[in-house]
Order: sequence, then C-alpha cells, then structure tokens
Amino acid sequence: MTLQVFGLPVSRGVAIGKAVLVSSSRVDVAHYFINADQVESEIVRLREGRDVVARELEMLKRDMPDDAPGELAALLDVHLLLLHDEALTGATKQWIIDRHYNAEWALSAQLEVLARQFDEMEDDYLRERKADVEQVVERLLRALARGATSALAPAPGKSTEDWGGEEPLVLIANDIAPADMLQFKKSVFKGFVTDVGGKTSHTAIVARSMDIPAIVGAREASRLIRQDDWVIIDGDAGVVIVDPSPMVLEEYRFRQRQSELERERLARLRHTPAVTLDGERVELLANIELPQDAPGAFESGAVGVGLFRSEFLFMNRNGELPGEDEQFEAYRAAVQAMQGLPVTIRTVDIGADKSLERMSINELRHEHTLNPALGLRAIRWSLSEPNMFRMQLRAILRASVFGPVKLLVPMLAHRSEIRQTFEMIERAKQQLRDAGVPFADIQVGAMIEVPAAALLMPLFLRHFDFVSIGTNDLIQYTLAIDRADESVSYLYDPWHPAVLRLVAGTISQARAAGKGVCVCGEMAGDSSFAPLLLAMGLRSFSMHPSQIASVKQRILRSDTQKLMHYLNDILNSDDPQARYRELVAGDGVRPASLAA
Ligand code: PEP
Ligand code: MG
Repeated sequence: MTLQVFGLPVSRGVAIGKAVLVSSSRVDVAHYFINADQVESEIVRLREGRDVVARELEMLKRDMPDDAPGELAALLDVHLLLLHDEALTGATKQWIIDRHYNAEWALSAQLEVLARQFDEMEDDYLRERKADVEQVVERLLRALARGATSALAPAPGKSTEDWGGEEPLVLIANDIAPADMLQFKKSVFKGFVTDVGGKTSHTAIVARSMDIPAIVGAREASRLIRQDDWVIIDGDAGVVIVDPSPMVLEEYRFRQRQSELERERLARLRHTPAVTLDGERVELLANIELPQDAPGAFESGAVGVGLFRSEFLFMNRNGELPGEDEQFEAYRAAVQAMQGLPVTIRTVDIGADKSLERMSINELRHEHTLNPALGLRAIRWSLSEPNMFRMQLRAILRASVFGPVKLLVPMLAHRSEIRQTFEMIERAKQQLRDAGVPFADIQVGAMIEVPAAALLMPLFLRHFDFVSIGTNDLIQYTLAIDRADESVSYLYDPWHPAVLRLVAGTISQARAAGKGVCVCGEMAGDSSFAPLLLAMGLRSFSMHPSQIASVKQRILRSDTQKLMHYLNDILNSDDPQARYRELVAGDGVRPASLAA
C-alpha cells in the first residue's frame, strides 16, 4: 500500500529506487560493497566471526558459577541456537552473495528484517526475543571488528561503488554520521533519507555535495520503510513515497526527465562569466570536502575553491590522524587540480556534528558533551592540540608553492584566539624556514560564524586579509538552534532579520575596509538568496559545485543597482522574506536569455 513520509528537503531532484536500510547499531558498522571476487572471503569472515562467538558463548556456559540462575544457561543456549539459525547466518550470507554487502552491513541488514518480524509477533514472549537476536548480532559485529580492521573501515580499494546489480538503490537510515556519508560519496545510491538531522547538518551538506536527492528529519522513515521497498524520494518537496502506484511512478519518472533536461540546460552556462545585468562581476567558488572533489569543482566552472573543509581528511581513520606529508599531498592535489585558481583551505573544524570517529548526531549528543555545538570544536579544538595544529599549518603552507592558497580559520570569537592563531602560523612558518622548506606568502582569513565575530568586525578586519561568512553556524548561534536537530528545524530561519542584519553588516564593513568578503555557508548556494546578497554588496559566493549554474543564472538576470534600493526596506522589515518577495520578485531580477 502506498505510504508517504515527510521530512526536510536538503538536496533537490527525484530519486526512484529500492530501499537499502542501514541500521543504527550500537556497534560501529561500516557499509561498503565488496567486489565479486571477494564474496567468498567475506563469507569466510562471517563464518569465522560466528565460530568465535560460538566459542565465547560455550565458554561463558562452561565457566558459569554453580549458583548462577538456571535461566542464564538457558539464555546462552537460546543465543547459540540463534547464532546457528539459518534465518540469521544463512540469510546474511545471501545479502553478501546477492548484493555484495560487506559482512557487517549484511548482518545489520538481516537484523533489520528479523527485528521487524519480531515486532509483528502477537505473542509477548516471542516478541521480546528480538533483544536476544540484537545481542547475538552485536556480539558477531564485535567479533568481526576484532578479527579484521576492515570491519571499521573499507580496506584500500574497497568502496561503495562496486554494486553489480541492475536496480537503482536508495539509502534509508535513522541517522548517518558525516564520516559515513563521506564513504557513500562515491556510491551507487541514487538518493537518501534519514530520520534525524537538520537542513544544514553536515550529513545534509555532504549529501548536497553528492548532488543526489535527499531528505533528512523524516522521523519515522527507517521504521516505516522496509528493506527492498520501492520508494520515490522527492527532494524538492521533502516527501518519500513508499510503494508508489504505477501512475505516480510514471509522473515522477517524467519529473526526473524534466530535471535532467534542466540540468543539461544549466550546464551550458559553465563557461559564461557571472556578470550582472549592470556589469558587476561576481566570483562563484566551490566548497569541497576532499581533494578528489576538486576536479569536479573545476569542471563546474568554479573560479576557485572558497572552502575546503579539511576536517573530512581526518575522518574514518580509526583515530589515527593524517600526518604532515599526507595532508600536504592532499592539499597539493586540490591545488593542482584547480590549475592555478585559488584554493581556500580551512583548518580543521572538528566537533559538534563532525566527529573524528564514525559517530552519529544522536551519539554525539548523548555521549560526549551535553552541547557539542557549543563545545570544543573548530579553532578551539585546534588550539587545544597545538602540535596537530602546527602540523596542519605547515602542510597548508607547503602546498602554497604549487598554486595560490589561502588559509581560513573557523569559528573565531575571541581576541585571544586571534592572537594565538597568528602565533601558531608564525611558529609553523619559522619551523619551515629552519628546515629550509619553501612556502609562499599566503592570505589568512577568518570565518565569521559566531555573532560575537560579526559584531566585532573592526577587530577582525585589523588582523585578517579577508573574511568568509559561515551562515550555517551564524544562523545556529544567532538563533540558538542546533542546526543538526530536526526537532527545532522549524526555527532555523536564514530570513530572520537578526541574521540578515549580521550578514549585511559584515559584508558592508569588510568592503568599506577594502578586504575580501565571501559567503560560504549554504545560503550562498541557494539561488533565491542571490539577489539579496548582491544587494548587500556581496561579490564572492562559495557553494557546492552542483549549485553554481543555478546561482549563476540568477546573477545573470539581476541588476544590483535596482536591488540596492530595496535593501534597507527589507532589512528593516519585521518579515524580510515577505518584503523581499513583494519588492524583488519580478524587479531587479529580470529574465535574461541563457547563453547558448
Ligand atoms: C558555515 O558554518 O556556514 C560553514 C560554511 O561551515 P560548516 O558548515 O562546515 O560549519
Ligand atoms: Mg561553520
């Protein structure tokens, strides 16, 4: 029966495919596809894991004290029975054979299927046996993790690309950590849905960078959708349609073709310079997460990288951080891929919803600090790890010999942080000089993403060569709303007058001081904001490469002279969005024919 699930649209378009459910097990589970020639060895791993658990359970039984309650021995027997049950291990093997899932993924997929069957049982006693299956699976996952490091991260050469099947797949999960999203980046999935998360959570941001339809905060999705259900993900409306009728399916297939045509049309703008109707040149830059994203950024027509979120290099590494040389190679690769265009590398922004480990938003909230978004993140973390920070600074400085590099520092708010940051940069430079390692003169910029920084622009402009406005965090901290929390996502409002005034003030003060100013938060890639940001005086936007064409189209149709006249009216309004619609829609934004 057709079912609809609603959530927050985070990445546009329509995806149609079979649901792949990723369970949110308490054990860290990597999900990746193995190659056809690895199926045999993956089944052996699973068998070995099962044998280890069987021995563990036998030993527990044997060593049980005499006065232990009888139920305990009976329980271990139940676990042993479950362990050898075809419904668990046999079916798990089948996932490996049919879908090429790695053993851990296959196990969690099968657990999902079994858990549902238990949930539907009438008998209370039987229904409660679900917990036993979960415990057995958890034991098995731990055994696999101990037996092979690949249980935690894909071994080199393995990826989520190797799915040999024909049917399109979409990913459904309770929660996906940004680190896991990264792993899915080169994957077969045509779209994804999570139960939790806000529009500008980092999971959503990585999904957007993959340019596939995505919905977060869909609350019940992973409970209502079953493994292998056919689903439509409407990334424009934020709706998931489960088991659609042939008529609905046809309608969405039509929309899919339409949006493909629209993309092709926009792609023709790739080499058109972004110039407004009144001749203002605008710089459209790319946000990237990994050096491998740089060629795509170049192809998209970006005139540089405005934000390289370097923290993604630090994820999925089982706690081992990348050394100086490894980082240098990564930065150099990005710089060289941009072929002489500038690359702005942001120092690590770890913390909040971006953990070094594969931790979901929920785990972060409950396990680490009460309030990770207000905790030790970004520059605070870097300054608390001075060796690591200097190592990163040296790696970035060394890459500057291979092309124009700019350094960007996240989440600054205090004068002491600014001072310490520059001391660190100076120390890193001195270390390179002492070692005779060359580096170029690089510009240093500050991210303006804490209201305190936006209100202290003169201080920042005295010290930094440029600023970059991180609207995602600026909105979060101005409005006191956790950007990753879907329960308050209705309050996450880029149109809030306080937010707009902070953004406008930052842009105008930077311009007045003759310093560069860019917006690199998600607002920059939302074409509906482009005329407003132009009116504020912004001439540098950084966004996901896939958004560049549509923002460019909007810029080509805009007249900054006209737009400027409306700015104060909009900023002083209690409802800037409504005022903007009244004033700007249809004026200052004139249709222009697309360049062929
Ligand atoms: C921002 O906060 O707007 C930003 C660009 O940084 P991030 O999204 O990585 O926190
Ligand atoms: Mg930020």
